[in-house]
Amino acid sequence: MGEDCIFCRIVSSKLPVTIEYQDKFTVAFRDIHPKALFHMLIVPKKHILNIETTDDTEILGKVVIAVGEVIKKFAIKDYKIEINGGKLQEVKHLHVHLMSEGGV
Ligand code: 5GP
Ligand code: ZN
Repeated sequence: MGEDCIFCRIVSSKLPVTIEYQDKFTVAFRDIHPKALFHMLIVPKKHILNIETTDDTEILGKVVIAVGEVIKKFAIKDYKIEINGGKLQEVKHLHVHLMSEGGV
């Protein structure tokens, strides 16, 4: 999408964030307003609006794999995963919230 999408700006390094994990398809960084002690956002590098408007199974699979990699990297034991959509989605770029009261 580009300049008007916050997560595309983060992906293209136009907005400064600390990248906690990345691979060819995804990046992960901490939520600016954490709702748990550990609150990471896992985002596809490709701009995808949400799960109901894509059939890109490769990217969707890569995002889920990346969530697993972040869980392992930070040794998270108990966690909650959330994918927002519709009116509850503030940033219109597919992302997964990974939240835990453990990890750092
Ligand atoms: P949602 O679309 O899932 O409802 O909310 C988007 C999430 O992205 C929110 O939890 C919000 O705090 C986070 N967020 C929005 N803008 C930024 C930003 O510029 N940097 C970071 N790290 N997180 C952001
Ligand atoms: Zn985007």
